Amino acid sequence: MSQVIPATLIAGDGIGPEIVDATLAALDALKAPFEWERQVAGLAGVQQAGDPLPQATLDSIRRTRLALKGPLETPSGGGYRSSNVRLREAFGLYANLRPARTIIPGGRFDNIDLVVVRENLEGLYIGHEHYVPIDGDPHAVAMATGINTRQGCRRLLEFAFDTAIAMGRKKVTIVHKANIMKALTGIFLETGLELYERKYKGKFQLDSVIVDACAMKLVLNPWQFDMLVTTNLFGDILSDLVAGLVGGLGMAPGANIGSEAAIFEAVHGSAPDIAGKGVANPTALMLAAALMLDHCRLPDLAARLRKAIDETLNIDKVRTGDLGGSAGTEAFTQALVSRIANG
Ligand code: NAD
Repeated sequence: MSQVIPATLIAGDGIGPEIVDATLAALDALKAPFEWERQVAGLAGVQQAGDPLPQATLDSIRRTRLALKGPLETPSGGGYRSSNVRLREAFGLYANLRPARTIIPGGRFDNIDLVVVRENLEGLYIGHEHYVPIDGDPHAVAMATGINTRQGCRRLLEFAFDTAIAMGRKKVTIVHKANIMKALTGIFLETGLELYERKYKGKFQLDSVIVDACAMKLVLNPWQFDMLVTTNLFGDILSDLVAGLVGGLGMAPGANIGSEAAIFEAVHGSAPDIAGKGVANPTALMLAAALMLDHCRLPDLAARLRKAIDETLNIDKVRTGDLGGSAGTEAFTQALVSRIANG
């Protein structure tokens, strides 16, 4: 393989370095052509550079436009803003892609294969919050403002619709609350329906559902959905619900895609309770690496990585403690690397 792809690597905090090492071992076994620029962020950024998102890290991602990152902790105190939010803003990462697939059969929900696409930069998440004082109570009224723009809705919906076609999805469901939040989420629904009519009609089926009904339907019969596309806050909640359907956050990868970069990560956090113990499950970050391979148009390598993960978990039955097994991170990684080598 002659082409080399420069990419930024952020090990992250807590279990981050352990699961990143495991993922690098899998990518090396695949001979994935990444040339890594190692950078720091989160607590490690504060310790090494006095900033949870050092300039060198931002410069590296600006150069490579591609990053794989471990989970980051936002230091409490010191007035630091979340590095994850700053990364989204810095690189215009407007789309959050969260596929969820049953890997270990026999759980409460079998054969789940669902994708959630969440708007990442707008909605009720953009932090215009304040209090109104009344009669000496400084916090008598709390207010938050949400903002959705037609342009922001359109680029996210276009990303979702194009991804649906690329992934061979048959149906896309727009999730909204336009019956109550008529302007804020109505603009999202309207833009989606209009875009579909104008550009995507017949390429897949489109329908829509109100978010509360969607939550119920996901628990009663998740198989009726194929891809969900929604605004920021609803997407945040529903994508965790969907991760729960396939065995929890330890199996959930995420991609943050934007106009200036794409950043791939596990959905879970830094798991400080098990950090340094060698027991973390690296599957979610490995699945994020598979998304990164897809993004770099290396679908064969992505498919080999997913197959090796399936076989290690289901044929070799090598599993970490969170999945009821007894393997540590290293034993799981060794079994997976053997699968890749012999696959
Ligand atoms: P968490 O996801 O780190 O942990 C929740 C529980 O799941 C813990 O019991 C943990 O041991 C377990 N767990 C998580 N990942 C696991 C894995 N790979 N293998 C085995 N068990 C695993 O959530 P939290 O405790 O709420 O957050 C810890 C820190 O992570 C916080 O500082 C939070 O801000 C940060 N965080 C970062 C990101 C990110 O960078 N994308 C996402 C979520 C949370």
